[in-house]
Amino acid sequence: MPEEPSHPEVRDAVKRLCKDFPDKYWRDKDRAKAYPGEFVQALTDAGYLSVLIPEAYDGAGMDLGAACAVLEEIQRSGANGAACHAQMYTMGTLLRHGNDAQKQKYLPQIASGALRLQAFGVTEPSSGTDTTRIKTRALRDGDHYVVSGQKVFISRVEHSDLMLLLVRTTPRDEVDKPTRGMSVLLVDLREAVGNGLTVRPLETMLNHATTELFIDQLRVPVDNLIGEEGKGFAYILDGMNAERILIAAECIGDARWFIDHATRYAGEREVFGSPIGKNQGIQFPIARAHVQTEAAALMVDKACRLFDGDEACGSEANMAKLLAADASWAAADMCLQTHGGYGFTIEYDVERKFRETRLYQVAPISTNLILSNIATHVLGLPKSF
Ligand SMILES: Cc1cc2nc3c(=O)[nH]c(=O)nc-3n(C[C@H](O)[C@H](O)[C@H](O)COP(=O)(O)OP(=O)(O)OC[C@H]3O[C@@H](n4cnc5c(N)ncnc54)[C@H](O)[C@@H]3O)c2cc1C
Repeated sequence: MPEEPSHPEVRDAVKRLCKDFPDKYWRDKDRAKAYPGEFVQALTDAGYLSVLIPEAYDGAGMDLGAACAVLEEIQRSGANGAACHAQMYTMGTLLRHGNDAQKQKYLPQIASGALRLQAFGVTEPSSGTDTTRIKTRALRDGDHYVVSGQKVFISRVEHSDLMLLLVRTTPRDEVDKPTRGMSVLLVDLREAVGNGLTVRPLETMLNHATTELFIDQLRVPVDNLIGEEGKGFAYILDGMNAERILIAAECIGDARWFIDHATRYAGEREVFGSPIGKNQGIQFPIARAHVQTEAAALMVDKACRLFDGDEACGSEANMAKLLAADASWAAADMCLQTHGGYGFTIEYDVERKFRETRLYQVAPISTNLILSNIATHVLGLPKSF
């Protein structure tokens, strides 16, 4: 007997909510490159974006398994949780490293949805994956930092009130380790935009509300420094396990959507006088995608259990992300192939989900960087960079 999925009551409720946002809703938003604000509001009102915020700060205080269940079901319904998934986990940096005043000030409002903290600015045009080479610089001026620099691919900034920004507070060549000398600032976007921060939407192959940021002498109060100056890289790394596991759960949801749709279509579409699904050339790729997805889901569950048990889970989070992203991408390709020409038409939604799930080979961390981490940290092979 297959193991029952965790948090069945959460899954059922999310499925019901997603029924109010049918495929046409997502298709229209995708075509217009519009933000699915109504969906995000419905999730917020139902409390699903605050599941990870402790009850002491008015959140639901649930575990990562519950958050995974929410995101997996969203993706499996055909929706795209990327519009707001970061509202679930970006606050983790504030929760773990912020001071009491910051937590009291922001977390209850993030939990209620009065404030959105679903933007984080790490990536820069000239540094890419090599985060320690970021150039965005924050210089101390009395009780403010003055920040200048540039960021790229920063998502949801236009739909967020707050943003976590990774900056250099000490130049790379003045610290003993390149990972030191970076800091995390909480930027109030309601004040910053137009006062040192310019946000320029970036057109991409998917509807992801991603932007470029141009930062010129932006003043951020020192009170908005999260944790200690110079330790920001460690704080960002610290939040990555949750992000990777949650995105892996989304990939599992995507993969299951592709498998559901391919199976249904293969059973219905008749060519040469019988359903195409009768041919093993169609059956086997669907079966293989199912096998690959179930195996990946086991690793996502393992990473999640370790995380919820406060155990080290860096490698498992990486492996879960890699396996789940590979499973969803393989399932996407299989589903498109199963649909033949109709897979390319907009009304079947396969091409939209195909574009959406492709992202997870690259973001939030690319497949190569995960393999490099496993090779050097788990297997002890020499580092190539
Ligand atoms: C739609 C979208 C949304 C995003 N949202 C955010 C966001 O909200 N906030 C944020 O900070 N960032 C965001 N990102 C950025 C994302 O995290 C980066 O794109 C990703 O980390 C890769 O960085 P890069 O694009 O600069 O690629 P590069 O670092 O230039 O790498 C290019 C390719 O080379 C490979 N590569 C690089 N170095 C090595 C090596 N040593 N060995 C082998 N292969 C290597 C990479 O794996 C990649 O495939 C987003 C990106 C996209 C596309």
